[in-house]
Amino acid sequence: MKPRVFALLPLLLFAALLGGCRQAQQVQSQQGLVMGTLATITVYAPRNTATDAALQAAFRTLDEINHIWHPWTPDATLARFNQALHTRQWVPVPADLQPLLLEALRLSRASRGNFDPGLGELTALWGFREAPEPGIERAPPIPSRITALLRQGIGVKHLQLRRDPQHGLMARTDTPTLTLDFGAIAKGYAVDRVVAQLERAGIENAIVNLGGNLRVLGSKGDSPWRIGIRAPRGDGTIAAIRNQGDMSVLTSGDYERYFIHQGQRFHHILHPRSGAPARGLISVTVVTDNATLGDAASTALFVAGPRQWPQVARALGVDKVLVVEDSGQVWVTPALQPLLELAPGVRAQVRDLSAPRQTKRPAA
Ligand code: AMP
Ligand code: MG
Repeated sequence: MKPRVFALLPLLLFAALLGGCRQAQQVQSQQGLVMGTLATITVYAPRNTATDAALQAAFRTLDEINHIWHPWTPDATLARFNQALHTRQWVPVPADLQPLLLEALRLSRASRGNFDPGLGELTALWGFREAPEPGIERAPPIPSRITALLRQGIGVKHLQLRRDPQHGLMARTDTPTLTLDFGAIAKGYAVDRVVAQLERAGIENAIVNLGGNLRVLGSKGDSPWRIGIRAPRGDGTIAAIRNQGDMSVLTSGDYERYFIHQGQRFHHILHPRSGAPARGLISVTVVTDNATLGDAASTALFVAGPRQWPQVARALGVDKVLVVEDSGQVWVTPALQPLLELAPGVRAQVRDLSAPRQTKRPAA
């Protein structure tokens, strides 16, 4: 018997090693263009067909969400719903749109209207339906056209909802200039959906990144994931964040879509009351545990501006924030500090959200 056991032993060892290799976790990444931006899904998982299938399914979900939520691609569900709304009749809200529409309306109210998913006509007037060539020169819309649009009525305050026993959720608007545009929240929502799907597929360590808006799960083996935050001017990063388990990092910046006129930058994050690009901040990063909230919040805080962003953060229940003012001044909230590594040469000051006035003390 003994000699047979010895003969088998190397074979068993070889098989165990092979099995071990098959199960070894590796960093794997796939990229694609979705929602007008680069989507990158990175996982730390065994290299096998189950992981490949999970990644492919994730990209299919991103395509589906894009198809539902595009505000102006003619056959997208949202584009058709916008057209139906323009009849100014009561129309049923398609089932696909309901969860995010209701969540967006709730967050719009919580943000005191700074995040408003009803500004589609304003975005169109400013020419930000498509991303302009970076740094392109062109003129802003003439002020009288902006005033006329504001007078006609934009924003979700012009959207009425009611439950109909037969048709379910119904919507109506009193203005032909309400066009729903979920550009400030749909990426976060898509990230949350894909993360839930990856978790169901057994993936425990991942980064789902849509153009710098991302959610992180687990870790990269023994080390945390490190997430770079883009510097709003020039190349490179302004800071890095070390994740602690599941965490979302969302950024709104004036460098994403903009044009230049007479040396001034006009960007795509619009103030619902002035009808013009929001002033004072050039980048806002929000760290939360869900990307849908983080996406709406980063836009809302950007619009709220240098004086009001802490109040809006409190109202939205967001406590980890990094803000860059147009002067270059960087602010960090105390809750974000322990996770943050500033890039060499970057100085930040701490802004306590509960303090009624700015507290200027250097970040550690
Ligand atoms: P984000 O990059 O997430 O801040 O989203 C910016 C996009 O959201 C813009 O390209 C517009 O489509 C849309 N948008 C612009 N201003 C607002 C606003 N105040 N509230 C909600 N969505 C907005
Ligand atoms: Mg946003």
